[in-house]
Amino acid sequence: MTTYSRESLDLLRDKVDLVEIVSSYIQLKPQGRTYKGLCPFHEEKTPSFVIQKGDGHYHCFGCGAHGDAIAFLMSYLKLSFMEAVEFLSEKFQIPLQKTTRDIPSLGPSKKDLKAVLAEATEFFHSILLHTDEGQRALKYLYNRGIDLEFIKLFKIGYAPRKGALFGKYMHHLRYKSDLLEKAGLIKTTNEGTKKVFFSGRVMFPILDATGAIIAFSARKIEEAAFGPKYINTCETSLFKKSKTLYGLSFSRRKIAKEQRAIIVEGQIDALRLIQEGFDITVAGQGTAFTQEHVDELLHLGVKKVYLALDGDAAGQAAIAKIGNLFQKVGVDVFILPIPDGLDPDGILKEKGPEHFKMLIDQAQDYLTFLIHFLSKESDMNSPSQKNHLVSTIATRIKTWDHPLMVHESLRKLARLTQIPEALVGVGKEESTKTQYIKRKSSLSQIDVDPARVIESDLLRWLYLLSNDCPRLFALIKKNLQPKHFSISICRRLFSHYMEQINEGKVIDLSVLAQNLEGPEEQLLFSEIIQKKVNKERAEEGIIEVTTKILQSFWMREREAITKQIQSGRLLDSEMSELAKKFDSLTAKPPCVVFPPELE
Ligand code: ZN
Repeated sequence: MTTYSRESLDLLRDKVDLVEIVSSYIQLKPQGRTYKGLCPFHEEKTPSFVIQKGDGHYHCFGCGAHGDAIAFLMSYLKLSFMEAVEFLSEKFQIPLQKTTRDIPSLGPSKKDLKAVLAEATEFFHSILLHTDEGQRALKYLYNRGIDLEFIKLFKIGYAPRKGALFGKYMHHLRYKSDLLEKAGLIKTTNEGTKKVFFSGRVMFPILDATGAIIAFSARKIEEAAFGPKYINTCETSLFKKSKTLYGLSFSRRKIAKEQRAIIVEGQIDALRLIQEGFDITVAGQGTAFTQEHVDELLHLGVKKVYLALDGDAAGQAAIAKIGNLFQKVGVDVFILPIPDGLDPDGILKEKGPEHFKMLIDQAQDYLTFLIHFLSKESDMNSPSQKNHLVSTIATRIKTWDHPLMVHESLRKLARLTQIPEALVGVGKEESTKTQYIKRKSSLSQIDVDPARVIESDLLRWLYLLSNDCPRLFALIKKNLQPKHFSISICRRLFSHYMEQINEGKVIDLSVLAQNLEGPEEQLLFSEIIQKKVNKERAEEGIIEVTTKILQSFWMREREAITKQIQSGRLLDSEMSELAKKFDSLTAKPPCVVFPPELE
């Protein structure tokens, strides 16, 4: 794994202008050296989100959210630590020093690739708007109901049929062929000549979470023309097709906030819905929707999805498949009744956004949809066909991860198909799935772990107060050791914190964030920096969580002894030794000890 040196992160933190970063997402009003705005992390009507110019941290007096620029990007845009750091380094032109001995990356940097793609976007955009050839493409877009405002908003362009123009323009800007090829803009043919990849197509830029262009999706404008309707940039170091959700750069924030998303097939559908205010919309790559796409949305905390795929047979088949991927991981799926021959864009054009809103309200749950979809080919009056249909669906339901969802869905299946519950296996689910499977990215399940909540509470206090409250730090130090933590990431962060403070270093969020990997740990990070705390009650709060951590450690220790004794593999002497230990533990429930300076 690549990490960046502490020094270069420090430099980054010093140079980054937090006000500038935050202002591009929320409105801040200056009052002297203080900037105030409505907090993006909780609902409020009067601003309590504050940044002191030059301080580098934000703080919300309403919900206690607190952090630096990296934390802001991680919580607000749900970027990973590395993404946030790289975004800041590019934006403020601060080079980062890598610390790992990872394989030196061959080829151009991501920054160079993004630069050339941004330039190409400008080129295609101006070809669309200002050339004769572009007029044809413009006409096509206008016919589809796409207006100029939309074209400018999403920087839509046109790749001319003759590639030489593009090549000339890019070489004039001194971009080398190698870079253009690595960015997926040109390719080497079998004969060894270089050819532009896109020609005679409308160009839709694909953006990453930070808004940088990483690829294109290109649509032909004459149905009769050679080649598929859409083609995308090939996989590059920036663009991974199976992970990229079209429109997510615009919808990400709202999806994370509302924990729901609309999924459509086409890029134009996605952008049109976003333009009309349905800015929780994304498109996969056509009807192909992968597990990675699902994970991407789970990472944003999605609990409900609306499928608004085309009304044709391919769209319906895709719904059955995509819906299952979400249901499997505990996300509720609803299907919009899109008439055959229409797509969301067509609906907006013919009936307007109000009608689309109505379709959302009328959406059908996944199970009802599935029964209708699969029973189209069966005769429900035939017992054997009905049996086949019901057992197909019941088998599918039993592969889902959440026992409650399996149980409730089987009951519903019985009700909808009018057969006794026992016949679909209601009440026998445990035999097929005995364990509650914890998926790495299904974050909604993690926050129910009470140990996790308590231990992250402690870390929050440590983070918020250790720099300016040595008394309370002494209290924690006197009472807690890494072994008291049961959640490994919390234990890791605690040890790390204590080492830093013992060495007299200032605890900073970037130190904390750099130790995080994967969505679970990033969620913990958000919990740490976003939860409401009352600093006035710090001492009380710290004593409370410390006590809880000690108590739960005490319980675990006693349980471990009980288990050992019950294992039946001990000598009598060992047994009595352990029994003594158990008794002395029981006699001494833990309590918080105060360091002399606090007494
Ligand atoms: Zn707040």
